[in-house]
Amino acid sequence: MKIIKTIDEMQNLAKVLKREGKSIGFVPTMGYLHEGHLSLIRAARAKTDVVVVSIYVNPTQFSPNEDLDAYPRDFETDRILCENEGTDIIFCPRDGDMYHDGYSTYVEVENLTKHLCGASRPEHFRGVTTIVTKLFNIVMPDIAVFGQKDGQQALVIKRMVDDLNLPVEIIVSPTVRESDGLAMSSRNKYLTPEQRKNSPLLYKALKLAEKLVLKDGVRSSAEIIDKMLNLFHNIPGMKIDYISIVDTNSVQPVSEINSEVMIALAVFVGAARLIDNIILKPDKEV
Ligand code: AMP
Repeated sequence: MKIIKTIDEMQNLAKVLKREGKSIGFVPTMGYLHEGHLSLIRAARAKTDVVVVSIYVNPTQFSPNEDLDAYPRDFETDRILCENEGTDIIFCPRDGDMYHDGYSTYVEVENLTKHLCGASRPEHFRGVTTIVTKLFNIVMPDIAVFGQKDGQQALVIKRMVDDLNLPVEIIVSPTVRESDGLAMSSRNKYLTPEQRKNSPLLYKALKLAEKLVLKDGVRSSAEIIDKMLNLFHNIPGMKIDYISIVDTNSVQPVSEINSEVMIALAVFVGAARLIDNIILKPDKEV
């Protein structure tokens, strides 16, 4: 496994691999890897000749009041985990190289970034779409794998790739969960034992919504959101950022569920802000 730190070296190697007719699979991450990330590496491994994992905590997707400095980092463990999954290249660029002095160019997807996480993190998606575009230009992947865990991000990236005619296929891989349903996340490290005990409530709320739609035939978003909110009443230390039901195409809230929707929520739990989502088609049987 190669560890590449410079943009030139990564880009030159990608060109050589392409000339040799090798397909490149790419998994962008911010490191502190867990089973969720590893499942994406496996998905890339299964489809391509050369797997590149990037490890880069991207400063432009954090607001000044967020956890950029506290974000957990452990390169040595990440290196071992990547190697065990048969990763060919880790690309871990330095901040100063990715955003040099005078850096001025951003990629922005409109509309799809207004609601859900975009409402409480207004600069977040601009940072994500900018870094992903830069990484695509450096790694030149045929396929890039993202997690359903960040459901809005996956929809935004797909739209960007389509709108800008980027020559890469986007694969979205299912959310990997702990045995009690909590979606795996590098930020789960921030949870105290007590907070960790309450955190599966996010997935419970999503499973309740799934039952209401698919088994009980409820179609009113307000009714579903109300019942989900009720689960969080009197749970100490959990503060809802949003619970929302959006159309998967437009990422706009819907009042009635008549087509494919994403039910998504974000909850502040102590120092962590946890997110989760499911995609539902109203006519699908459970
Ligand atoms: P991050 O390092 O948190 O920026 O995530 C890098 C990639 O891993 C993103 O595409 C995430 O959606 C994906 N990912 C994070 N957690 C999970 C999970 N629990 N299951 C599946 N994919 C995940």
